Amino acid sequence: MLLFKQTEKLNSYLARERKQGRKIGFVPTMGALHEGHLSLVRASRQDNDLTVCSVFVNPTQFNDAEDLQKYPRTIERDIELLAAENCDLLFWPTVSEIYPDEADSGGAPVLDLEGLDERMEGAHRPGHFQGVVQVVHRLLDIVGPHRLYMGQKDFQQFTIIRHMIDRLHLPVKLVVGPTVREADGLAMSSRNRRLSAEARQMAPRIYQALLHAADQIEEQPVKAIKEEALNKLNTPPLRPEYFELVDGHNLKPVQSVESTDYIVACTAVWADDIRLIDNLILKKPEDLRTF
Ligand code: AMP
Repeated sequence: MLLFKQTEKLNSYLARERKQGRKIGFVPTMGALHEGHLSLVRASRQDNDLTVCSVFVNPTQFNDAEDLQKYPRTIERDIELLAAENCDLLFWPTVSEIYPDEADSGGAPVLDLEGLDERMEGAHRPGHFQGVVQVVHRLLDIVGPHRLYMGQKDFQQFTIIRHMIDRLHLPVKLVVGPTVREADGLAMSSRNRRLSAEARQMAPRIYQALLHAADQIEEQPVKAIKEEALNKLNTPPLRPEYFELVDGHNLKPVQSVESTDYIVACTAVWADDIRLIDNLILKKPEDLRTF
């Protein structure tokens, strides 16, 4: 595996590969890699000639300085894991490499997110999605992949990136991989390693609450499903921030099951001071194009 730290060098290397007709797949991450990330690397390796993974803890998407500071950084282990997966290239830039001029927005597009960023993660993490759009746009510009791989785990994130790709007519195909879970159902996350033993033991309740919502979708009104889930999740050290049933097309809350063909339950739950998110598709259109 080749390791690049400099934007210019990576950019010109990949330009040569593209000229020779090689298809490039790209997996952007913030590191502290686990099976969720590696499943995307594997999917990319299957579909493309060259797989690029980036490890970059993007400061502009953190609204909490302590969360940024405590975000796990395990680059040596990440390198081992990526090499074992035969990932072709790792891009591990510094912050100044991605944002060379502090006053510059890093080439962030002016983009109307049409309300996709107003609820759920957007409402609770001000500025988060502007930061995500900024960094993914910048990374796509540097890497120039044919396919971009993202996880369903961050449902609102990939929906917003899909919107960005569509609106800006970016020449890249978004591929979404399913959420990879621990044996007890907890969605894998780099943040899981910071959970206390007690919080780790309770955390599978998040997936259980999502499964219960899926089970009840035809049985109870939406309002009752949400209330029940919030109650289930309100068990110390867990504390739910939101549990929403949204229309997967536009992320607006649904009032009834019949109102759309695409319903996703999305939740954010605090486990002590660690914030975990998860989601489950409860109703899916037959022609869903991202999966
Ligand atoms: P992160 O490093 O958390 O920014 O995640 C990088 C990419 O991996 C994003 O596209 C995530 O959606 C994806 N990802 C993170 N956790 C999982 C998981 N448990 N299953 C599938 N994809 C994941």
